[in-house]
Amino acid sequence: MSLQSISTEVNAKLDAVRAVLASEVTGKGDVCLTCSFQAEDVLLTKLAIAIDPRIPILFLDTGYHFAETCAYRDRMAREWNLNLIELLPEKTVAEQEAEHGLLYRSAPDRCCGLRKVEPLFKAVAGYRAWLTGLRREQARSRTALEERAIFALPGGKQVLKLAPLAEWTTREVWHACQQLDIPLLPLYERGYTSIGCEPCTTLPLDPNDPRSGRWAGQKVECGIHIQAAS
Ligand code: SF4
Repeated sequence: MSLQSISTEVNAKLDAVRAVLASEVTGKGDVCLTCSFQAEDVLLTKLAIAIDPRIPILFLDTGYHFAETCAYRDRMAREWNLNLIELLPEKTVAEQEAEHGLLYRSAPDRCCGLRKVEPLFKAVAGYRAWLTGLRREQARSRTALEERAIFALPGGKQVLKLAPLAEWTTREVWHACQQLDIPLLPLYERGYTSIGCEPCTTLPLDPNDPRSGRWAGQKVECGIHIQAAS
């Protein structure tokens, strides 16, 4: 695809995302956006704050992030004056490790449950709608991702989960970020293609699978995008 045609395609897609945001983001604080500070989340954040500069931006502070991720998060929060809400697990890393050892090695599902799923679901339950930068192309587990879906939280509460970038390709995300002058997390320059907690993130093991560097291939999802069974 030529540069001209990708620009045209990306501009049309940006307009479509802006339209979704304009109809869903009310400015009443009832819509949140979860942001890992990876490229698609930062792109969506940029588009959302153009509509509501105070939209709650939820960041899961697991205590295990790369120093680069934390520095970049702080930089973007400062430069864009984000209404950043850092979600903390019940226990600090030191407390969890003293009690259970290195759960990310022995029981990564449990570690993600304690440090990601529990705090996120608790926070999201306070909103009507939840915006995410999820894309179908990111992983095999996301190929059936819907742009709008009702998401059931444990305990029965339901929230509207929106993924307005669902059909975007990585190339389109990169192109849009460049077009909108969005600086990206520097770890991409070192070859990472999907970036989470440092102990569970490596360079991709399979060049055709951007999430193959997460959990050394042991699992593909942390659990925050898996809803409670009905
Ligand atoms: S990604 Fe790894 S370190 Fe982070 S919460 Fe999950 S298991 Fe723990």
